[in-house]
Amino acid sequence: MKNISILGATGSVGTQALAVVASNPDLYRVLALTAQSNAELLIEQALMFKPVLVVITDERKYREVQTALLGTGIKVLAGAAALCEAAVLEGVDMVLTALVGSVGLRPTIEAIRAGKDIGLANKETLVVAGDLITRLATEKGVKIVPVDSEHSAIFQCLVGESGNAIEKIYLTASGGPFRGKDPAFLKGVTKVEALKHPNWVMGAKITIDSASLMNKGLEVIEAKWLFGLEADQIDVIVHPQSIVHSLVQFNDGSMKAQMGLPDMKLPIHYALAYPDRISSDFKRFNFVDYPELNFYQADAKTFRNLGLAYAALRKGGNMPCIINAANEVVVDAFLQDRIGFLQMSDVIEECMGSIDFIESPSLNNYLETDEYTRILADQLVTK
Ligand code: NDP
Ligand code: MG
Repeated sequence: MKNISILGATGSVGTQALAVVASNPDLYRVLALTAQSNAELLIEQALMFKPVLVVITDERKYREVQTALLGTGIKVLAGAAALCEAAVLEGVDMVLTALVGSVGLRPTIEAIRAGKDIGLANKETLVVAGDLITRLATEKGVKIVPVDSEHSAIFQCLVGESGNAIEKIYLTASGGPFRGKDPAFLKGVTKVEALKHPNWVMGAKITIDSASLMNKGLEVIEAKWLFGLEADQIDVIVHPQSIVHSLVQFNDGSMKAQMGLPDMKLPIHYALAYPDRISSDFKRFNFVDYPELNFYQADAKTFRNLGLAYAALRKGGNMPCIINAANEVVVDAFLQDRIGFLQMSDVIEECMGSIDFIESPSLNNYLETDEYTRILADQLVTK
């Protein structure tokens, strides 16, 4: 029996993780669930999975959750600081970080400090402070098992390859809804168009990131930290069918890929069960449905975010933190119709050039960088 805490239980990854748990009641028990403001779903999940603790970060929703769970024995906490309580809860073996954004940083650090293994969906945390997180995990002997489908693919390809040198990895990208489009087209796209992902149903922020290729940029940085690679060893290749989830090329030239239908339940299931594989009834891939699998060069010229993310990775220090914070602000602004699709990259680039660069940041430096960048990005959006 593995005891799990799910941060961001009401989201796309969180709900799919709970579906995996519900299908394997003898293997997993949920001890903590958190949400930001979706009290209704959190209550429903709590009544079904009977965790020890639920956290609602929006304090205005505390009474609603607390009243609904009266008499159940489930402890209810509110506020962002309470996320850390869910992360360090006694008896929890693995914390699944399915929050969106850099808000995941503190609870992830606390979970690692408390010796909990991490099922990592919340890529922003690794983008912001990858050096700090990976160092701490090594120190504490904590496993970080990726949930992001591309990184799960690489992780799976590396099983049994300990000590063998990776020449490079290829992260596959669907290309999103605007694959093949030019800047003139992108200038006028709306959030409704950007939210229509061809292959995956996900939360709003990552769906916009997929349309702008920032998601792939963040994943390049995520891969550096998960697999200890340099920027030149990480390549992005567009693969519209999202069947090959990513590939590793070893130093003998041989390549390994991991494949499957685009269904996040698969990498979630793998991360929860790791190092085992547990049978599932997920829909199987059928070759007849996919007579062709295509691969193309990514267009980093049109989708500037990809180039900006590589630049941030090469620069290091707090630059990935800057790019992430600026991106969180512009995606939010785009979703509120406050800026256009192409302006998102303009604001991010300006933040990268304006915020003080710190070569070896401390946790406080990261938190300050995140805060200052958000203020600047917001001013640039409003300008
Ligand atoms: P969603 O937006 O669907 O869900 C986010 C979850 O986090 C919800 O439970 C939400 O609560 C909660 N949350 C959001 N903001 C805050 C906050 N400020 N404080 C506390 N809790 C918060 O996101 P996804 O599930 O799509 O993505 C989660 C993470 O996983 C992201 O980092 C994403 O990049 C990554 N990921 C997602 C994939 C997917 O298929 N969705 C694939 C690969 C990676 P509430 O519901 O109350 O708002
Ligand atoms: Mg991914």
